[in-house]
Amino acid sequence: MSINKRPKSQAAFARACKAIPGGVNSPARAFGGVGGQPIFMARGQGPFLFDIDGNRYLDYVGSWGPLILGHCHPRVVQAVNEALAEGATFGAPTERETQLAELIGRLMPSIEMVRMVSSGTEASMSAIRLARGYTGRDIIVKFAGCYHGHVDSLLVAAGSSATTLGVPNSPGVPRGCTTDTLVLSYNDVAALEQAFKEHEIAGVILEPVVGNMGLVKPSHEFLVQLRRLTHHHGALLIYDEVMTGFRLALGGAQELFGQKPDLTVLGKIVGGGLPVGAYGGRADIMAKVMPAGPVFQAGTLSGNPLAMAAGLATLQELREHPPYEKLEKLGAKLANGLGQAAHQAGVPHQIARVGSMWTLFFNANPVIDYESAKKSDTARFARFFWAMMERGIYLPCSQFEAAFISAAHTDEHINETINQRSVVKQLPFAFIQDLK
Ligand code: PMP
Repeated sequence: MSINKRPKSQAAFARACKAIPGGVNSPARAFGGVGGQPIFMARGQGPFLFDIDGNRYLDYVGSWGPLILGHCHPRVVQAVNEALAEGATFGAPTERETQLAELIGRLMPSIEMVRMVSSGTEASMSAIRLARGYTGRDIIVKFAGCYHGHVDSLLVAAGSSATTLGVPNSPGVPRGCTTDTLVLSYNDVAALEQAFKEHEIAGVILEPVVGNMGLVKPSHEFLVQLRRLTHHHGALLIYDEVMTGFRLALGGAQELFGQKPDLTVLGKIVGGGLPVGAYGGRADIMAKVMPAGPVFQAGTLSGNPLAMAAGLATLQELREHPPYEKLEKLGAKLANGLGQAAHQAGVPHQIARVGSMWTLFFNANPVIDYESAKKSDTARFARFFWAMMERGIYLPCSQFEAAFISAAHTDEHINETINQRSVVKQLPFAFIQDLK
C-alpha cells in the first residue's frame, strides 16, 4: 500500500505542539531520529494501525512492546470492560492483584513475591532503591546503552530516545544523583571484574537482551559472569525484563538463557497495554518492601483493577496459547528476507534478532555494545524508515530501538513486508538500493 496524504495528522500535530511539549507525551514517539512529523493514530486492530487520515499500517512497534497479542485482542477487551463496569479504582486491595502476582510467579519462578506499580520507570526506580536498602550499599552498576526508564540516577549513557536525541545526561539531573552510578560497557566481562575489585556494589541492572540501543545480545560468558560476580560479592543481580518479559519466552530472557536474577523489573506486556510495571524476586529481599519491611514505595493507582484485568487476560492467553514458536518462525523469515534484500542491494547491515524482537542496523560491523551501535548510519536508517512508512509498514522511528512482531502477524504479513511486489517488481525490497 502506498500512502500519499496525511493532512489531518499534520494539523493535529501543529495543534498538539501548542499544548504539549514537542506535541508528544514521550520523546521516543516524536520521530526525532528520522525527521518529519509523528503520525496521529485513530485505532488499532490485530497487527494493523489506522491513522486519523484513514491510512493503514502493518505495525512493528506494538506500542513499543506491550502488544504481543496485537491490537484489541478480544480476551483483553472483554476483561477490561468487565473490570470497568465494576469500578475503575478503589485504592484498596482486590483479588485480581493476587491472581496476577501468583501468575507472574508461576511463569517466572525467580519471582517469589512481586509489587505492582504503574510504569517500567517506577519499577526500576523501586528495584534499585530496594537493592540499596537490602544491601546497605550505594553503588549501582548499569551498562551504556541500556535504558531503565527516566530514573534520575540511571539517566547516564541511557539508550532509547536519550540516544536518539543525543542527551546522555539530562539537564535537571543533579550530579549528586549519578555519583553512585557506575556505567560499564555491555558484554565487557573484564570491566565488570575490575568494578567488583574496586567498589562495594549494591546491585547490577541490565537489559538481558538490550532493546534500547537497537537490539544487542548478551554473550553467554557475560551472563554467567554477571551471576557469578554478583553472587560472590553479595550484590543483587537485577534483570530489567520490561521489554523481554513474556516476549522472548513465557518466562522471559531468564528462561531463554537459563539464568536466575535476584530481582526482575517488568512492564509493557505485564499490563496488556494498560499502564503497569512490577518488580519482584527473592522473598527475603521483597520482604524489605514497606509495609512488610522498611524500604518505602507506594502508589495511588498501583494494582489498578483495569490494569490488572488487562495483564491477567494477556498472561493467561499467552500461557494457554503460547505463540513463541510461531513468533520465532516469523522472526526468522523476516530477518532472512530483510538480510537477503540488503545483501543483494549491497547495503552494509547487521540483522540482530531474538525471537520476535529485531533491529536492522545499517552498520558494517557486528553491534555488541553502545560504542558499536553508535557507528550505525542513522541517515540511511531514516531513509529506510520513510521508504517503509510510504509502503504502509510502521517501524520504530529510530535506529536505536527494537521492533516487535505480534502473535496477530501471519506469514502473509511478513511476505508483504519483505516482498513489496506491488511497489517493486524485480528484487524483493529493491528500494534498499536507493539507500546507498
Ligand atoms: N526498562 C526498559 C528495558 C524499557 O524498555 C523501558 C521503556 N521502553 C523502561 C524500562 C521504562 O518503562 P516505562 O516507559 O513504562 O516507564
